[in-house]
Amino acid sequence: MCGDKSLHHKVLGQRLNQSQGFSPRSKNGITVTVMKCTNCQLIYSNPQPIPFDIQDHYGIPPENYWKPEYFQYDANYFKQEIDQVKKLMDFKPGMKALDIGAGLGKCMISLSRAGFDTYGFEPSESFYQMAVDKMKIDSGRLKLGAIEVMDYEKNFYDFITFGAVLEHLYDPAASIEKAMQWLKPGGIMHIEVPSSRHLLAKIINLYYTIIGTTYVTNLSPMHEPFHLYEFGLKSFEEHARALGNYAIRFHEFYVCTLAPFPGFTHPVLSWVMQKTNSGMQLAVWLQKK
Ligand SMILES: [Zn+2]
Repeated sequence: MCGDKSLHHKVLGQRLNQSQGFSPRSKNGITVTVMKCTNCQLIYSNPQPIPFDIQDHYGIPPENYWKPEYFQYDANYFKQEIDQVKKLMDFKPGMKALDIGAGLGKCMISLSRAGFDTYGFEPSESFYQMAVDKMKIDSGRLKLGAIEVMDYEKNFYDFITFGAVLEHLYDPAASIEKAMQWLKPGGIMHIEVPSSRHLLAKIINLYYTIIGTTYVTNLSPMHEPFHLYEFGLKSFEEHARALGNYAIRFHEFYVCTLAPFPGFTHPVLSWVMQKTNSGMQLAVWLQKK
């Protein structure tokens, strides 16, 4: 994200190509080295395994990827994010929005209901088909394809969102740069990603160190959900400086799930994560200059 290719970065440890659990030494498989950029706090794997075809990772039926509840649309879905966007721009009904990695199209439904003229694209064929067939997303507004091959008019959109998408892309910096071209000057881009300051990951990594291994829990470069990166706020600050055409207007950290830890620890963990900005997810709202 900061463009530092010196590779004098910190080695965090090794990551298996499956869930590691309490006893990763008892599992077999292949590992990659997980690294952290000391300049911009980006966590990435080196080497970076790339599938022959993106459908190898995401071409699976959505029922296998998410639970049946996921197909239920909730009217509050993405509401908080839309409210934040409207605070940052002079919103008028009919403004144009683009959802990158639209998934089943729930965010597109919320954006349309909030008054945006909404478009989207999705790289997974099975998700795309499910969005059109089951969620009734207009196929004239939703395209099938990956960001690397997608093209839209420059300076066209007022709002663009990457929700839970950027961590799956092989070149997040180039993806933001490309999508920024589609955004109008003054337009807002929302990005939500896994945070590289996540407290629970640090606790689990400490456990792996105590039991005498070099494993870390960060990323999932070779298994579901295929997270290739974790980001710090500094990743976006450095990228904004390098690219020069946007500024960070607002950011938030979210605790999200505490599920791997026993219930009695949740109140204190949640409190610490909120106080120290070490929740699981980071959301940023960027404004194009
Ligand atoms: Zn960096």
